[in-house]
Amino acid sequence: MLGNGKKISISLGNGIVVKMPELTIALDPKSNSECKYSFVSHAHLDHVHSPKGVSKVVASKETVSLARARGYDLSRSVEQIPGMELVDAGHILGSRGALIEDRVYYTGDVSTRDRGFLKGFRGVKCEILIMETTYGRSRYVFPDINSLAHEVNKFIAASYDRGLPVLLTGYPLGKAQIISRLFDTWEPVFLHHSVFKMNSEYRALGVDLKEFEEYSQPPDFERVMRRGPWVMIAPSFSRSSAFVGDIVKNYHASVATFTGWAVDLCRTYRSASEKQQYHDDDEEEEEGFRRGGGRKTRVEYFPLSDHCDFRELVELVKYCNPSKIYTVHGFAKDFASYLNSIGFDAEPLSIEDDQMSISMFAT
Ligand SMILES: [Zn+2]
Repeated sequence: MLGNGKKISISLGNGIVVKMPELTIALDPKSNSECKYSFVSHAHLDHVHSPKGVSKVVASKETVSLARARGYDLSRSVEQIPGMELVDAGHILGSRGALIEDRVYYTGDVSTRDRGFLKGFRGVKCEILIMETTYGRSRYVFPDINSLAHEVNKFIAASYDRGLPVLLTGYPLGKAQIISRLFDTWEPVFLHHSVFKMNSEYRALGVDLKEFEEYSQPPDFERVMRRGPWVMIAPSFSRSSAFVGDIVKNYHASVATFTGWAVDLCRTYRSASEKQQYHDDDEEEEEGFRRGGGRKTRVEYFPLSDHCDFRELVELVKYCNPSKIYTVHGFAKDFASYLNSIGFDAEPLSIEDDQMSISMFAT
């Protein structure tokens, strides 16, 4: 532990660089760091890199495995270094926050909510909190997980009643595994190959996920898929991928997309809890889906996230009770302003600020 009077500096550059008297570490650097240590909080691609330099990487063993599956070699990393404790961040399997010298806590991407097999982050007391604020505006409040699952089950049941399959989409690492657990009572369930790969990794790491068949397209498989409704878990649609559009066109599948940003798509979010809604042709085109065989595609968005919502971020700060807070990612400015309005000392950590000053603490 550091004694009083010792300075800490925190800056943003290649990751967040924390300099303590005894330890200098880069938190989630984008590339090789010059710091003695680098911390990789989890295996999402915006947080992981393939280290080749002198910096010693700190990461959980699950993050090392998941990163390897995605083509990143963290095999020379360690799980522990003196003066730093890794804490489960509840974001995806293996995600960790870092408590440095018992004074500075970095959340990484974080969720305080229990979801399926994942336990939410419980919080740690700290002097300085560096926190992600992806959903740092008050409008981002997510529903209870059980009521959300209930709405989704109704959505799937409605499609099955019409004899139509359902696509459940979310990012393949993290979200897709929560979806796989929450909706594993439906049959049959198929997995897009990217989801199949990540589910297999989770299972190998000890997560009890049901084994589902990988989607493929031999002729007999086609017959199976035409026999009756099914569920498929796949990556979210992006304009660069025609996969979801093709599935929708070929099988008239309904689509449920899971993202915290569903709150912004209030038209469809409301429809999830208040009424069913079918998009008109223009909207289908806008979303990248086409009309198939004279049927309309049913598309809904459900606010399931692996991040804290606004209220959870506030609760997290209150629990940690730091004397200084730095916000990063998403609505960092807005959330810092809110924290200041309720009596905390907060500011967004930004590259621009880095040019002017490095935050210094002397306690
Ligand atoms: Zn993440």
